[in-house]
Amino acid sequence: MRVSEGFRALPNMFAYCVHIGDWNHTIATIVKRSFESVAAWADVWEKLRALVEFFKNSESRSVCMFNLRKLKLTELLPLFKSFGATFVRWRYETICQAICDVLSLQDFCVSHLRVDFFQRQQRKGAKLLAEILVACKDRAFWCWLHTMAPLARTLAKTRRWGNGCACHEEDFQKGRTVACCWTSRRLGEAREYAAKSVAKLRGLEGALVAAAATRVAARAAAGVPTVAAAAAGPLMLA
Ligand SMILES: [Zn+2]
Repeated sequence: MRVSEGFRALPNMFAYCVHIGDWNHTIATIVKRSFESVAAWADVWEKLRALVEFFKNSESRSVCMFNLRKLKLTELLPLFKSFGATFVRWRYETICQAICDVLSLQDFCVSHLRVDFFQRQQRKGAKLLAEILVACKDRAFWCWLHTMAPLARTLAKTRRWGNGCACHEEDFQKGRTVACCWTSRRLGEAREYAAKSVAKLRGLEGALVAAAATRVAARAAAGVPTVAAAAAGPLMLA
């Protein structure tokens, strides 16, 4: 869509003409429906919620970091400093970051986390600790996160696109704050962008079907999961 300089001089008038109504909520609803269409979603969600609740607590992270120093696994320390996932907002707006941040701690959760790190954990934290220990040992849960991460990332990028503007594309994708009168007024470009996004999502379809079969196999497999086994499978789509 070409916009003349005359119209550009009237941002308030023109801006409303090209505003994409309710873009943020629409994309988050697509995420919600996609995730809820997976039969195991309720179980995965409970585990993801527990892990986010646990690791967003700075005291829990401090205990983990203290023990990593004792175990001389200092290369894992930066992962705990950058954990920023939260479900304070609507969960489907922040679920991409939750999945990515929890996946970044998979190696620690699967191979290093031990219940005796938390001997002094207060009684109120015991239930959450028990929940996350179950999640850490559930190989199918980790497989599910790896499977859905590319879908979550693609949709999160689409959501950011609609909230941004062509003149500050890079700033929005990097999560910077932008003040611009063209923010979220992208209806003229939306058709072309939507076609590209749909093509990208279709490209993930084959990998999702293959991963679903592997998830079933993982659930049936006995024993504690290992990161090496998960990485060797066809699930590392990121
Ligand atoms: Zn702009």
